[in-house]
Amino acid sequence: MFEQAKEIIKQSNTIYVVGHINPDGDAIGSSFAIYFALKKLGKNVKVLMPKYSDNFSFLPGIKEAVNEVVEEKYDLLIGVDSSAKDRLAISEEDFNKADKVIMLDHHKISDPFGDFRYIDPEIPAASQIIYNFLVELGIEIDKTIATYIYAGIMSDTGSFNYSSTKPSTLVIASKLMELGIDFSYICKRLNDTIKEAKLKLIAYTIDNMEVYYDGKFRYSYVSYEEIKRLGLDEEDAEGMTNYLRMVEGTEVAVAVRGKSDGTNKVSMRSGGKVDVSKIAILFGGGGHERASGYTMPKDLETSKKELLDVVGGMLS
Ligand code: AMP
Ligand code: MN
Ligand code: MN
Repeated sequence: MFEQAKEIIKQSNTIYVVGHINPDGDAIGSSFAIYFALKKLGKNVKVLMPKYSDNFSFLPGIKEAVNEVVEEKYDLLIGVDSSAKDRLAISEEDFNKADKVIMLDHHKISDPFGDFRYIDPEIPAASQIIYNFLVELGIEIDKTIATYIYAGIMSDTGSFNYSSTKPSTLVIASKLMELGIDFSYICKRLNDTIKEAKLKLIAYTIDNMEVYYDGKFRYSYVSYEEIKRLGLDEEDAEGMTNYLRMVEGTEVAVAVRGKSDGTNKVSMRSGGKVDVSKIAILFGGGGHERASGYTMPKDLETSKKELLDVVGGMLS
């Protein structure tokens, strides 16, 4: 499966690994699993990750991430968990410094890039692909690598509960567990630990929830100023859709948050009847059937009306 990628890696020494902007557990898990694995092969490897949420600070070695490419040229860029080049946390300039590019991803609709691509939308997490990739590369999965892969798979499968979860996902999880990872602690940190300010953001999100189409559509918006007022960073404002989608009868849940650049990040979840990746693609974004997103332009009210119309059409 990964023969060609294996060959490219063999011929590369200076390697950068990069996930998407606003990295989630899967982007981080995929990047750092590759990072620690390639280090074992003696490669000069770095993870490019300019910004990430404090929630992930407990992961061993995450602080080794770098902000930019320092070399004039490098041998290989490995892009993970991103469907498009422009969603990678790397500047165009640094992207172009790479001699070769490998893409490992699981998004349904992709805008493929790179010399070698492996995209499987049936796999629930890029980290699961990375596990298979590293095994094929013959790299021994140690406890650190296992921790990252587990964190990545856990994040994208809702702790093995989303319908995307496969029997193979659990088989891999069991192998990771056998390596002695502290799975309970990973879960505690990623799912069960928040700042007090975030609890207030959740309350704000719920308080400001708008309900349409007999409760099938739930929407909430929080501005960048509000996020800052609560003492949070923008990365801390992730995950708000989860509270909206929990409400009985919800088919589409949307949480929008203002960003520092004045645009708005849309986070969409489906109850199962509506393929929200179609909605996201329509507005220039992407994602999966049950979880997708896009960037709303600055004129929030117009964008919201457009979204309402599209969702209304898909619900009827
Ligand atoms: P999120 O709501 O941020 O957790 O994102 C859910 C899914 O939607 C992720 O798998 C992303 O890949 C995808 N997604 C979110 N925002 C965008 C975007 N601006 N463009 C393309 N895909 C996106
Ligand atoms: Mn991701
Ligand atoms: Mn993913």
